[in-house]
Amino acid sequence: MYDIIIIGAGPAGLTAAIYAMRADKNILLLEKENFGGQITFSPKVENYPGFTSVSGSELAEQLLDQVMSYGAQIEMATATNVIDHGTHKTVVTDYGEFDAKTVIIATGSKHRHLGIDGELELIGNGISYCAVCDGAFYNGKAVAVIGGGNTALQEAVMLSEYCTSVTIIQNLSFMTGEGKLLKILEGKSNVKMVYDSVVTEFLANDTLYGVKVRNTKDGAISEITVDGVFVAIGQQPENEPFATLTALNDYGYIISDERCRTDTPGVFVAGDCRTKEVRQVTTATADGAVAALAACKFIDTL
Ligand SMILES: Cc1cc2nc3c(=O)[nH]c(=O)nc-3n(C[C@H](O)[C@H](O)[C@H](O)COP(=O)(O)OP(=O)(O)OC[C@H]3O[C@@H](n4cnc5c(N)ncnc54)[C@H](O)[C@@H]3O)c2cc1C
Repeated sequence: MYDIIIIGAGPAGLTAAIYAMRADKNILLLEKENFGGQITFSPKVENYPGFTSVSGSELAEQLLDQVMSYGAQIEMATATNVIDHGTHKTVVTDYGEFDAKTVIIATGSKHRHLGIDGELELIGNGISYCAVCDGAFYNGKAVAVIGGGNTALQEAVMLSEYCTSVTIIQNLSFMTGEGKLLKILEGKSNVKMVYDSVVTEFLANDTLYGVKVRNTKDGAISEITVDGVFVAIGQQPENEPFATLTALNDYGYIISDERCRTDTPGVFVAGDCRTKEVRQVTTATADGAVAALAACKFIDTL
């Protein structure tokens, strides 16, 4: 019987492991594919305190080393279900079942991809999914934002403050984001909206220099020259295995309070997979600390 099983070894899960082990708890950390989580895909992180510039994989490696230095027990396994027995929980995985007094879910979320050739290879070389993370790299440059929802419009507003031009490419004939944001963008001389259009190709040598776009009404193909593309077509949390265990919101994020507690006693949640405003490494690590300490407190009162 573990004190805490942590599901997911991204920044949130790894930080939870550090705090739990420093509180002398017996933990098991489960990861299904990629120790370090999504930040390992970022070639450059410049907004994590203490590091002027660091690659995402280096940051993740240091976090993992720190966890290993405490002698953490880690399994490469995918959690497929968590059963609440009241007194304890059983985490069901593709590698067997494990029991614990508490569970911290830290399974993150994934940015939706367009699925166009070369997309993954160009991440960090012209393609980004997060203006807060990467917008500063395009200061004084031309960018496109793909999408028309709130995230896309918010990213476009932010980028329009320092990019020479922002072209918003939307597949529908209207934006689905808030009218207030649209109004702000319509008032900016460096913002252009391209409706009824889908990106069909990324134009690149080693680095992206533009996109090919097809008008869905008349089939016309055009090219737009840009230095960077921000894909903002939504995020996908990975919470299906926990849908019967604890409450999710309409978008599939686990609902929690400020102490990272879910509505199931003994089940905590940390990082991008929970309801929150800002999804960044800083907020994920903060959640990891809060969730681990809340779990420790819960165990101590059992
Ligand atoms: C390209 C890119 C660039 C970014 N740049 C920045 C940046 O510059 N600055 C910044 O602050 N943030 C950046 N981010 C965002 C940042 O990476 C995330 O906010 C952060 O990683 C969230 O941490 P997390 O631990 O909550 O989730 P994740 O990092 O998503 O980790 C979750 C882990 O859980 C695992 N998992 C999922 N389901 C299961 C399961 N059922 N069983 C076992 N394991 C499971 C996943 O494999 C994953 O390893 C970037 C993201 C991307 C994709």
